Amino acid sequence: MNILGIESTAHTFGIGIITDEGKVLANAKDSYTSKNGGMILDEVALHHKNVAEKVLKSALKDAKLGWDDIDVISYSAGPGLDPCLWFGYHFAKGLSVKHGKKLVGVNHCCAHLSIGKVFNKLKDPCYLYVSGVNTQIIVFEEGKYRIIGETLDIGLGNLLDKFGRTIGLGFPAGQEIEKLAKKGKYVELPYTVKGMDMSFSGILTKCQQLFERKEANQEDLCFSIQETCFAMLAEVVERAMAHTGKKELLLVGGVGANKRFCEMLDLMCNERGAKFHKVPMDLAGDQGAMIAWEGFLRMKDYGDEEVIPHWRTDEV
Ligand code: AMP
Ligand code: MG
Repeated sequence: MNILGIESTAHTFGIGIITDEGKVLANAKDSYTSKNGGMILDEVALHHKNVAEKVLKSALKDAKLGWDDIDVISYSAGPGLDPCLWFGYHFAKGLSVKHGKKLVGVNHCCAHLSIGKVFNKLKDPCYLYVSGVNTQIIVFEEGKYRIIGETLDIGLGNLLDKFGRTIGLGFPAGQEIEKLAKKGKYVELPYTVKGMDMSFSGILTKCQQLFERKEANQEDLCFSIQETCFAMLAEVVERAMAHTGKKELLLVGGVGANKRFCEMLDLMCNERGAKFHKVPMDLAGDQGAMIAWEGFLRMKDYGDEEVIPHWRTDEV
């Protein structure tokens, strides 16, 4: 069986094709970028509309498949940005009607978790999901995902992108911040862990102030944001693993591309006899293959869900 998955929750429009054994046959995508702004909602939705047919074509071509070979179409029903979700839904629905395929609306966050799990062949990991909007520590218990720690305000990726905008980097800024951080030294920032949760907006404000008052340069701030926020997450995840007894950690989401972040988590896991896992770059950020795989896993329970903009991982 082959499943075609459509991703459109935020800046990426992607279409992936996967087999029922988890083999990725295609994972085409095109992401919205901007030189000086963040994400302008209608512009992002328009971007998706403009690239959709091209991305679909290249996915089918890469997989060397035609419509007869596709059994199910899945799409991200949420969470995400309203106009982007609606575009993805209508595009998926149109294809499902035209080609007579079952439609499965899935949760974008769960898709990040399940593609990482199948790729690494894991049994029962503790998940750390760090993307633009989301920062969550998740475990699977009694048939459900449980969020055992999360950001109380913005996601870590959002902090990076917003700070990047302050210092004149384009969107998204995570990769540039990682480069600048290599030349930086430590300046003190708020360390805001609250029980199992964390907060990033105060750190953003502090960094913006330090930069605007010329009290710290961009390299030092990039370095210090990374060290502080990654340490906060490593602390909470370590506690989550100690509490739940999980021996595997899986990092997913776009911020998982950061080498320093992986290094810190790997160290923490080694020290407690656990194993750290991540996903390759092309499966870390938003893409369609993960939506296809989640569609395969959920096809018995979900169908046409329209869009669910605030759908939480623990509501699935
Ligand atoms: P996602 O929503 O999962 O596609 O993740 C997107 C987020 O990942 C954005 O906020 C990016 O700034 C961030 N990101 C991408 N590459 C890196 C990196 N090398 N270091 C830190 N953050 C990154
Ligand atoms: Mg995502």
